[in-house]
Parts: sequence; structure tokens; C-alpha cells
Amino acid sequence: MRFAIFGDIHANLHALQAVLADAQEQSCTHHVCMGDIVGYNAYPKECLNIIRDLDCPVVKGNHDELASLEGQIDGLNPLAELSLKWTRAQLSEEDREWLRGLRMQRQVRDFTIVHATLDTPHKWAYVMTQLDAAASFSYQHTNLCFIGHTHSAKAYVRDEGVLSVPLDILPILQKNKYLINVGSVGQSRDGDSRSAYCIFDTDSNEVTLRRIAYDISAAQAAIIEAGLPSKLATRLVTGR
Ligand code: ZN
Repeated sequence: MRFAIFGDIHANLHALQAVLADAQEQSCTHHVCMGDIVGYNAYPKECLNIIRDLDCPVVKGNHDELASLEGQIDGLNPLAELSLKWTRAQLSEEDREWLRGLRMQRQVRDFTIVHATLDTPHKWAYVMTQLDAAASFSYQHTNLCFIGHTHSAKAYVRDEGVLSVPLDILPILQKNKYLINVGSVGQSRDGDSRSAYCIFDTDSNEVTLRRIAYDISAAQAAIIEAGLPSKLATRLVTGR
């Protein structure tokens, strides 16, 4: 089996289409979605429909949760808040109900998926350091766990201690535990403007990071056209 594992799509249709096309070219047999399907970019409904049609395991992201609720939006930066209000207006009650029904974490085959962290999945904390990774590892009962949320592709391994390791092609050894952030499809923040996702090949037992160029200008034009803040368009180029 070859799993295409991707998340933080954030309503970026052009990026999602490019990633799915690459996954197909790479002979992926299964899809796994790490959440944050909506928010920030201009195609929440379209991205939601694509993910629903894939009929794959999905976990809930913080933007999915906020978009699915009504009332006050707390704890988000102003850009995220503006886009969330706009996103809510694009979705039907049925879409919101589907988002509300997503689980916080799941086990897929023999690996775990969660949007933020395993130690406090509902608090939407960020795994940014080895210490953050160590906290999540203490709740990880599978060899391998995939996360998202920071929009920054990264891998941690727990052997005797917890180390940050390069992710390009990572062999998964049974004796260790691995916490892998698959990066973001629709709004990269690790300085590389291309989409990121991972392929987990269960035959070779390797995780590979893929970086995929997509039509950023088209995604930017759609953001402006929708009346969303222009900063959401400009940041796509810098990958910050
Ligand atoms: Zn996100």
C-alpha cells in the first residue's frame, strides 16, 4: 500500500488538485487527510467536496471545527478570523455537520493520525520543538504518527532521546517511534511556497516528503476576487 497523507489544505483548490495529481502519478493507493480542509483560501466548498468524494480517513483541524460552529470566534489571528467568517457563509448546514462529525484522532492500519498533538488534541497546541514532540510521543501507542497544524514539514524520532531528523526519505524502524508533520497543501509556512505532503509506503516501510509546485497566481486571483484579505494572497508566494 502507498498512502498519500496530506492536510492543511485550507481551501486552496489549485494546490489540492496538484497534490492529488502527483499522488496518482506516484501510484498512491490510499488517501489520508490530516484536517484543516477549509479556512484562508477561496475554495472551501470545492475542497470539502473533493475530500468527501475520496471517502478516506480524515481528522478534524481547528479551522474545520471553527467553521462548523456558530457564534464567537476566539483565539485566532485577525486574518484567520476574517477568512473563517467568510468560510462559514460559503458552507451549507450539511457541510458544517459533516465537519462537526470528524474525529480528533484515528488509527489507520497501524499508524495514528491527529491534526495537532496526541497529548492535548483539543487544545490545538503546536509541535515546534523536541520538547513538544516528547509530550506527544508519551501518548503515542503506534510506531508511527502523522500530524499537521504548523504548516511546516518535519520529522521527529524517539530512540533513546527525541531528535529532529531529515524527512526527505525516512526509513521507519520498528525499534523507534516517529512523529511526522506532513506540512501543508494550501498554505506552506516553512519557507518553501510549494505544497507539501507525504507518501508512506508500507512495503518499503519508508516515508517520503513530496514538494509540489502549483498555480499560485490562480489561487491568489481567487482570494482577491472573493474579497478576502490580500495578505492571504501574498503569503502564498513567500511560504511564510
Ligand atoms: Zn492549518
